[in-house]
Amino acid sequence: MDTAPYSEPYKIKVVEQIKQISREERAQKIREAHYNLFLLHAEDVYVDLLTDSGTGAMSDRQWGALMEGDESYAGSRSFFAMKTAINDILGLPHVLPTHQGRAAENVLFSALIKEGDVIPGNSHFDTTKGHIEFRKASAVDCTIAQSKDPSLNHPFKGNVDLMALEQCIAQHGAGRIPMVIITITCNSGGGQPVSLENIRAVAEITKKHGIPLIFDAARFAENAYFIKTRESGCDNLTIREICHEMFTCADGCTMSSKKDAIVNMGGFIALRSEELFQACSVFNIIYEGYITYGGMSGRDMAALARGLYEGTEFDYLHSRISQTAYLGKRLVEEGIPVLHPFGGHAIYVNALEFLPHIPQEQFPAQVLGVELYIEGGVRGVEIGTVLADRDPVTRENRPPNMELLRLAIPRRVYTNNHMEVVVWALKKVWQRREQLKGLSLTFEAPIMRHFTAHFTPVSS
Ligand SMILES: *Cc1c(COP(=O)(O)O)cnc(C)c1O
Repeated sequence: MDTAPYSEPYKIKVVEQIKQISREERAQKIREAHYNLFLLHAEDVYVDLLTDSGTGAMSDRQWGALMEGDESYAGSRSFFAMKTAINDILGLPHVLPTHQGRAAENVLFSALIKEGDVIPGNSHFDTTKGHIEFRKASAVDCTIAQSKDPSLNHPFKGNVDLMALEQCIAQHGAGRIPMVIITITCNSGGGQPVSLENIRAVAEITKKHGIPLIFDAARFAENAYFIKTRESGCDNLTIREICHEMFTCADGCTMSSKKDAIVNMGGFIALRSEELFQACSVFNIIYEGYITYGGMSGRDMAALARGLYEGTEFDYLHSRISQTAYLGKRLVEEGIPVLHPFGGHAIYVNALEFLPHIPQEQFPAQVLGVELYIEGGVRGVEIGTVLADRDPVTRENRPPNMELLRLAIPRRVYTNNHMEVVVWALKKVWQRREQLKGLSLTFEAPIMRHFTAHFTPVSS
């Protein structure tokens, strides 16, 4: 083995100070936050792995682009820079800016989804599902069965089960299916990629039935990296070529630019059909802003344009995804149960295996998140029964197959020494895992409860 170790294709020009408060202070802070990590002040967090959304570090060129942003209301130069980058990298002609990913969903779904519709896909993201269910439509999960086994190694666990998709279309009829959504990479399923072969096969099915195929494209570049490094016949393609191949299959996408476009805020819709673009434009104007800014400042569109190019460079993606794998590998070395294979943007700790004595209705992954914060000031996020929410009809909890604590890694922000702090803290929780107790809910919102819920430790 004579290959050089991976390293970051950049050096650090500006730093931001972070500090660690004491363990006692953290125990107090999390109590005051009702044991909900979202309710903590970020200042009280040392290594913040709550999300990789909007938390990345922009490059010097992106900061430079901010200064050159054009704040014209209509027809801003920065809009056209962003549109050109999207046309160039995704190959989709029509572009609408939105203030973030869920806003793109809101606009597109307003144009396409009616009450009673069915939207098949691979483990829809929570905001996507929220926007579908809010319209009294339903999201049908057609992810391959292998995705439900947290220890199974499969290179493309985000893949769509083609039989399940065909069955869903046969059962409901294409007339009630306004779109099929493929989430790349599949966030709710553990940051798992979808193969090019699978994307092409889904596109064949949707074309046959005349159903639009939409990508939830937040991490499309990470997905392309996995295609390049895992799918046979793809290693000679560049990331940009793979992006083109993926998007050739799509009729459009919604994008949270806070992920792979490495900006702190922003999103967009990109579409192939002019007619759908016109329909969406109406909703964009109502909800977001004029069609050439859609809730974004000109400077942010300028930084986004630059970020799309930087985010689709192989060296960058290699260092990013290798850092995630570094954390995963270190946790495995310490005997901590994590989801396999490692995700692109996050490592998911398997809370059912970590805390087998805490039943799902007492939120084991939430307990793990709280304890990790107390131990090391590290903040993750629950991807389990809290997030899965209640069934909109029966109002019963709908416990998912897996209870996970997601440790999402911001782009270009932390070093591997920070990752070592995470490993150290989680190991300390692991050593006292048998003493940990469950949590119960004392307050929850009617939809997307995880952001604002209050908990209390169960007595006994
Ligand atoms: C983050 C995300 C969204 C929502 O985007 P926001 O910018 O947070 O509104 C939608 N889908 C996926 C897969 C995401 O990761």
